[in-house]
Amino acid sequence: MWYGQFAVKTRQMMVGREKAVFHSGSIKEETDMLYVKELFKSYEAGKNKYEVLKGIDFHVAQGEFVAVMGPSGSGKTTLLNCISCYIPFDKGNIKLGGVELAGMNEEELARVRNTKIGFVFQDFMLLDGLTIRENILVPRIVQGEVPGEAEKLADQLAAMFGIGHILNKYPAEISGGEKQRAAVARSLINNPLIILADEPTGNLDSKSSRAVIETFINAKQKMNATIFMVTHDSFAASFCDRVILLKDGTIYRQMEKWEDRSVFQDQLLDAIKQMSE
Ligand code: ADP
Ligand code: MG
Repeated sequence: MWYGQFAVKTRQMMVGREKAVFHSGSIKEETDMLYVKELFKSYEAGKNKYEVLKGIDFHVAQGEFVAVMGPSGSGKTTLLNCISCYIPFDKGNIKLGGVELAGMNEEELARVRNTKIGFVFQDFMLLDGLTIRENILVPRIVQGEVPGEAEKLADQLAAMFGIGHILNKYPAEISGGEKQRAAVARSLINNPLIILADEPTGNLDSKSSRAVIETFINAKQKMNATIFMVTHDSFAASFCDRVILLKDGTIYRQMEKWEDRSVFQDQLLDAIKQMSE
């Protein structure tokens, strides 16, 4: 199906889709989907330089669901924005699917952002004038022609996430939890290397939060999706395989889940309490 005018408009926001930066299936850095080494990022405020990320090291394996937690101002969004190719970093390395981001030009970074990363935001970022099916297809629509197989995938993802019955509705007609499940489906439509989620349950009640977290778990289990999520919510984080605690721009601690979810949640709450002492 051809989405005409919408495709033309959204295309104007994009640059350089032609250059092949990635070659599908050529992941070199073992099983690491995301590899961050000695990452530094500062902001200048007048004469002062303010260090926000002070040497961050971690990696996320393919199929892993990892959360980042930390107090407000600890650098979580800055970290996500560096990985998202939205802001340049000062020093260090970020490899996505084995490919180094440092040194890429704007065009190459835009291509990574548009085709290799799926995004889920706190406020959903669905387009009001499009149906839920069209919203899920947006990352394909911006590429022009939407192949039948993408439409099929949109329907499959919606069915898997329990929103198959609302595909023809508009965002204003559905609940927050349904909107976010649609956003998770959208984040998967390009078969990205990684999903980056910034506070995806921040605007949701606990029942809807759980439904959204279950979509991530489904994506992980059924599609081997890799998910990197910033959250304040220890309940949401307790569903993850691993949690990275960030404090003042450094990694305070990394915690892996060895026991059941509720035990892990208690361990997280203890560690967060210790971190703030
Ligand atoms: P978090 O998401 O953990 O709350 P952020 O990454 O948003 O933290 O911010 C970390 C620190 O960097 C904060 O002190 C914030 O004020 C500062 N900061 C974030 N963005 C900018 C910017 N564009 N310019 C200057 N300082 C910034
Ligand atoms: Mg933030």
